[in-house]
Amino acid sequence: MKTYKIASIPADGIGPEVIAAGHQALEALARRDGGFAFDVTEFDWSSERYKRTGALMPEDGTEQLKAFDAIFFGAVGAPDVPDHLTLWGLRLPICQGFDQYANVRPTRILPGISAPLEGVGPGDLDWVIVRENSEGEYSGVGGRAHKGMPEEVATEVSIFTRVGVERIMRYAFKLAQSRPRKFLTVVTKSNAQRHGMVMWDEIAMEVSKDFPDVEWDKMLVDAMTVRMVKDPKSLDTIVATNLHADILSDLAGALAGSLGVAPTANIDPERRFPSMFEPIHGSAFDITGKGIANPVATFWTASQMLEHLGESAAAQRLMRAVEKVCADGIMTPDVGGTAKTQDVTDAVCEAIRGENI
Ligand code: NAD
Ligand code: MN
Repeated sequence: MKTYKIASIPADGIGPEVIAAGHQALEALARRDGGFAFDVTEFDWSSERYKRTGALMPEDGTEQLKAFDAIFFGAVGAPDVPDHLTLWGLRLPICQGFDQYANVRPTRILPGISAPLEGVGPGDLDWVIVRENSEGEYSGVGGRAHKGMPEEVATEVSIFTRVGVERIMRYAFKLAQSRPRKFLTVVTKSNAQRHGMVMWDEIAMEVSKDFPDVEWDKMLVDAMTVRMVKDPKSLDTIVATNLHADILSDLAGALAGSLGVAPTANIDPERRFPSMFEPIHGSAFDITGKGIANPVATFWTASQMLEHLGESAAAQRLMRAVEKVCADGIMTPDVGGTAKTQDVTDAVCEAIRGENI
C-alpha cells in the first residue's frame, strides 16, 4: 500500500476548521479505496506562533517540508498582525522556496449553488486559471526612499524572465491541450506595460507553435474582467501574471458563487519539491469559530492534491461526492444554505462511502 506523507499547515482563522474537514474527507477516501493511506504531520506555523516567538515558521521551515509528498495549507492572516508580514512570513517562502511556479485555479459552478450571473449555471462556466507564481509583480523587488517624508518614493518592480514566462506558458498550453475544448486565453496588459507584457505576448506566440492543436487568443486584463462577466462560456483555460491572475481568480470565485468554493494548487511541475494545496480564501475572521466555514474549497484542493499524487480515481470520487452534496442542498450560509461545516463534511464522507460514487 502506498502511504503519502502530508504536511498539514492549518494556520489561522477558519484555516484549522476547513483543514480538519479536508482530512476527514481524505481519510474516508483512503478507507474506501484501500490502496493508499496518509501519514499526516501537523505544523503549528501561524500568526499565533508569530506573536509567541516572532516568526511564523522556524528558520529551517522549508527544509523540514522537503521530506513530504505534499503540503495541505489552510489560510494565514490575523487581525493584529500586518498582512504583508503573514504573507511573506509563511505562504510566499514556501511557494518561492519550492519554486511552485504554476498556480492552478479551477472554477466551475457546482450544482445547487446559485451563481450571481443571470442565466449562467453549471456547464456555462468551466475555467482553469493558471497563475504565474514565482515572479512578476510579486518578486518583492523595490524599496522606499525618504520614508515618511513628503518626497518619499516607493518602487515595486515587476520582474519577468524569459525562462519564467516560457515555462508557465508551456504549462498553460499543455493544460489547455488536456481539456476537451483545447482553448487558451493569454492575458496581459501589453498596451500600457510595454516591456514585460510585450515579452509575454511574444513568448505566447513562440510557445503556441509547439501546440498546433490548441486554439488560443489574447486579452488585455481590463477587458478580460468584462468578458468573464458578459461571456463566460467563451473562456476555458486562462494564463496570466502573478498579480493579474490573483485578481481574476477572485472574480472567478465570486462568479462561481463564493470564495468558499474556490481552490488552488501551487505546483512544482518538475516535482523537485512538494507542491502545496490550499483554498483561495483567507482566514475569514468574521466567521471564525462559528462552525459555518464552507469546506468545499478545501475538498476541491484536496482533490487537486490527490490528482497530483497520482490518485486520480479518488480525486474524481471526491469531486463527485462534493457535487452530490451540493446538489442535495447541504450547503453553508455563504452559498445560501443553513448547514454547518461539519454537516457538509459528514455528508461528503457519507457520499464517499456510498455505492454509486
Ligand atoms: P477572506 O477570504 O478571509 O474573507 C473574505 C470574505 O469571504 C469574508 O466575508 C469571509 O467570511 C468570506 N469567506 C472566505 N472564506 C470562506 C469560507 N470558506 N466559507 C464562508 N465564507 C468565507 O479575505 P479577507 O477578509 O480579505 O482576509 C482575511 C485575512 O486572510 C487577511 O489577514 C488576509 O491577509 C488573509 N488572506 C490569506 C490568504 C491565504 O492564506 N492564502 C488569502 C486571502 C487572504
Ligand atoms: Mn488573492
